[in-house]
Amino acid sequence: MHHYHKLQQTLDTHPMGAPPSEEFLEILKILFPPGEVELAALMDFKLRTAGEIARRAGMPEKEALQKLEAMADRGSVLAKKLDGQPAYALLPNYPGLFEYPIIKGVDGETLKRLAKLWHAYYMRAMAAELASASPPWTRVFPAEEALTEEYEILPFEVASKMMERTKAIALANCACRISAGNCDKPLDVCLAFDGAASFLAEREMARLISLQEAVEVLKRAEEAGLVHTGNNAADKLLFLCNCCPCCCHFLRLITEHNYTNAVAKSSYQARLDGSLCTGCGICAEERCPVKALNIEGDHAVFHPEKCIGCGLCVSTCPTGALRLEKRANHQPPPATTGELVARITATKKL
Ligand code: SF4
Ligand code: SF4
Repeated sequence: MHHYHKLQQTLDTHPMGAPPSEEFLEILKILFPPGEVELAALMDFKLRTAGEIARRAGMPEKEALQKLEAMADRGSVLAKKLDGQPAYALLPNYPGLFEYPIIKGVDGETLKRLAKLWHAYYMRAMAAELASASPPWTRVFPAEEALTEEYEILPFEVASKMMERTKAIALANCACRISAGNCDKPLDVCLAFDGAASFLAEREMARLISLQEAVEVLKRAEEAGLVHTGNNAADKLLFLCNCCPCCCHFLRLITEHNYTNAVAKSSYQARLDGSLCTGCGICAEERCPVKALNIEGDHAVFHPEKCIGCGLCVSTCPTGALRLEKRANHQPPPATTGELVARITATKKL
């Protein structure tokens, strides 16, 4: 048992956090069976060669390599080349330990157990961790169809512009929708970039796609009413999810627990022109993921404090009563992921 506790403690040193809980210990037992957990408990987030990990474990290198490869194949640890040698590191909870084993595929019974355990973990122990992260780890990108040239559009605000800066793009299925299964929205809309893209493609958890195909994914996601969310930094994308409020842990923290800090809002918010609204209900019933619009009598009512600026309501309003405008006093995202990590780590130490 002490190997699982040690592993949890090491995972918890990641700024994303991995607080202790009964559910998380059960998850670790599924992802790291006996025989492998002993090695995982000796690893950290730094890439180390199989030889170095084997020496730490006092195990023949060949045996350690076999176990590390098995874990990497299942998406339980990260694998990359280090000076031409295979090297391995632990993965954070998100994106990583939650998503990768599920998108690789587990049997039906294990999927049911993992889905239940991860959901309980996110809604309890991880909820406090994520709600206290300031700024939030992820942010909303507006639907591109809703953007107009009325305002200066900054590159960090536009998912497709951010994707142009990446060197590799991989498309995977959505672990949230696979595990929660609460809707029939598209599964193949999760994007990973650069190092994560290569790892996921090498281990057959995703496939490499072109920028053009990735832009098509964004369009499909917008049509399906999915919210673009990605890492909250202005320089580059590490991942881009397309989320629904019924399956995504982060959106569910907002809608079910009112943790409004679970995801950073985009730099836009909706504006409703009541004189154009016919009260058809599309925006409130089919598009808004966070109940920022509802219908009262024969017209829509907008609640700006709830709006995350996803823009999904704009393109489907038949009368043009909704548009996006720049959010007043919006704080831009951290310039880099390094800055994001430093700011969250500093907040947690307070
Ligand atoms: S979709 Fe447009 S017209 Fe229909 S209720 Fe919403 S704002 Fe009004
Ligand atoms: S009102 Fe709802 S759908 Fe429209 S931009 Fe805001 S959060 Fe998105």
